[in-house]
Amino acid sequence: AAKGAGRNRYSYFTPTLQVAALNRMRLTNDLRGALKARQFELYFQPIVHLASGAIHKAEALIRWNHPQRGVVSPLEFIPLAEASGLIIDIGDWVFHESVRWARLWRQECHPDFQVSLNQSPLEFQREGGAYQGWLRHLEALALPGQALVVEITEGLLLDASSAVSTRLLQLRDAGIQVALDDFGTGYSSLSYLKKFDIDYLKIDRSFTCNLAPESSDMALSEAIIVMAHKLDLHVIAEGVETPEQRDLLAAAGCDYGQGYLFAKPMPAAAFDALLRDNAMPFAEPIVKVN
Ligand code: C2E
Ligand code: MG
Ligand code: MG
Ligand code: MG
Repeated sequence: AAKGAGRNRYSYFTPTLQVAALNRMRLTNDLRGALKARQFELYFQPIVHLASGAIHKAEALIRWNHPQRGVVSPLEFIPLAEASGLIIDIGDWVFHESVRWARLWRQECHPDFQVSLNQSPLEFQREGGAYQGWLRHLEALALPGQALVVEITEGLLLDASSAVSTRLLQLRDAGIQVALDDFGTGYSSLSYLKKFDIDYLKIDRSFTCNLAPESSDMALSEAIIVMAHKLDLHVIAEGVETPEQRDLLAAAGCDYGQGYLFAKPMPAAAFDALLRDNAMPFAEPIVKVN
């Protein structure tokens, strides 16, 4: 009790900014030991083929099970991991876990199964040595690069340094596909879509959540889908939460949907069970709109 009181008195005299800075310092410090203490866990969220309801892809999303705070969101700790350089080791862990599960699900559930993993700009642009390690790992397992999709954001392509172009070519050579995450939220100049070899566009949740017939977000989504298909890209809509959104997207020709309507991100074991239980758990007929 004395300790708690002391803490309260302390924060009473501390400006909010300092509290926030202190909080970040503490969290960064805890982050240093988190890998070794096995506090990270990879969750998986199905990416659903809208026309058939089949699941042949999943996005890997990291979770940090903090011993005192409980689950810490990646939105909170990934920036700290980037600022401290810890993102490199964490990213390696995400890669190895993703590969492990992708391999199993390709062997036992669907031969073309793909796991999509996120890369922050710093990870994506880092020195090449670690990437060679990744490729050797895939080779050693005889796992084709097609088992993986790397998700990056538009910002990375805007100021496309030669490091970024080189990395994209290396991924392509290895057969690893590339998705543009949160599409439509950045400063989309669009010209990079023809300059770089991208495989998937992920329409950001901020569009999906306002979808309604005749709405401006519907018009934008339709335009994105048409453009993407002309450029030979597949489209994944993020944040699908209602059957209406799913049906509007399907009617507009969107290839895949991802969101709470289908399933929230879940531990690997739960996702494994979902895949084995039924290859097409979302195969309800798509209602025609119009
Ligand atoms: P993201 O890559 O855009 O991932 C999609 C986020 O939307 C996830 O949040 C997911 O849980 C959430 N989401 C999915 N469906 C719905 C829905 O229907 N409604 C709503 N409201 N949200 C939905 P999450 O898991 O908290 O991840 C947040 C961000 O953290 C990710 O955004 C990604 O940028 C980053 N992140 C996650 N895992 C990793 C990782 O392993 N490495 C790196 N570098 N970043 C990661
Ligand atoms: Mg993503
Ligand atoms: Mg996203
Ligand atoms: Mg998003």
